[in-house]
Amino acid sequence: MPFSFQLLSKDPDSRARRGRFHTMHGVVETPVFMPVGTRATVTGLAPDEVRDLGASIILANTYHLMLRPGPELFRAVGGIHPFMKWPGPVLTDSGGYQIFSLPGSRTLSEDGARFRSYIDNRVHELTPERSIQMQGAIGSDIMMVLDECIDATSDEPRVLAAMQRTHRWALRSLAARENPEQALFAIVQGGLLRELRRQSAEFLGGHPFDGFAIGGLAVGDTRAQREDMTAYIADQLPQERPRYLMGVGTPPDLLYAIGCGVDMFDCVLPTHLAWQGTAFTSTGRVRITRSINRTTEAPLDARCSCSTCQSFSRAYLYHLMKCGEPLGPRLLSKHNIHHYLTLMQDARAAIEAGSYAAFARQRLSEIDRHDHAEGARA
Ligand SMILES: [Zn+2]
Repeated sequence: MPFSFQLLSKDPDSRARRGRFHTMHGVVETPVFMPVGTRATVTGLAPDEVRDLGASIILANTYHLMLRPGPELFRAVGGIHPFMKWPGPVLTDSGGYQIFSLPGSRTLSEDGARFRSYIDNRVHELTPERSIQMQGAIGSDIMMVLDECIDATSDEPRVLAAMQRTHRWALRSLAARENPEQALFAIVQGGLLRELRRQSAEFLGGHPFDGFAIGGLAVGDTRAQREDMTAYIADQLPQERPRYLMGVGTPPDLLYAIGCGVDMFDCVLPTHLAWQGTAFTSTGRVRITRSINRTTEAPLDARCSCSTCQSFSRAYLYHLMKCGEPLGPRLLSKHNIHHYLTLMQDARAAIEAGSYAAFARQRLSEIDRHDHAEGARA
């Protein structure tokens, strides 16, 4: 079945939207959060655990999977779904962000990027066409175009040049797609410059992409700049296709962006921070390794229905983290992903009830915003 998106309802007091998209591997209700499985695994969790937490779609990364295990392996085993035993939809990033953000030498031209593998130092090329071929081998349900990522605060000529190259690469990606059932999303660039963002949304919106991502945020910008730009860009994008805010962010970031009309999110924070001993709760962040938790019988979050909070005390989680036991970050990862997915479920229900604006205000007031730092991507 080819990709399709339906807009189901809109919130009367915000721009929040409730939608649904169909992919080759199932239906996804939006707004949706996609747990990050960079290397074909949501770190520490088996796919059935991720599924049981309520995840409907996960994200995997083309750059990392291209280097290891490589496209030949994916072609031999029939793609990422049978390989990792995840039956649901998968979105793959194009690899652009990693090429531009990870350390190591790279050279960039109109054709694409040449870089050395961080694994074996071999030289690789990533062009728009090669990224689509790799995503074809992975067999993802939603592919992303290769884009030129730059710091959001770069000067105007630099931002303009990267935006125009991103547009040319987007059209090359569209031409390179072989399987029409694999959706392809374009990425709106333009830094923090409204006029360029408007041009980028207008240009890309005029082409038959299945959805649009907002790229280049959460890289050097402030929260206020990011919120302002998210609201502006979401308004410029076509109504009838999904909108994806890449790599953002904390629960307050998500609540804000949903209110701007964004439909899809991914972020490494819930899993990365779990491995560092930090949990997201209904009242803000909890750092489980603080000594106050050493003897605390209460769960991580008394309002949470996840298996971690139903079964274990903060004292036990503190003990596991202090001993370096892998069960500790696993239990925190489950809680954090459950927290994000439940937030999205509640947001969808609030949009359906026409009360999203009030819902978001209440949730934000319960969270100590000072506990929430900037977003981050893999
Ligand atoms: Zn929990």
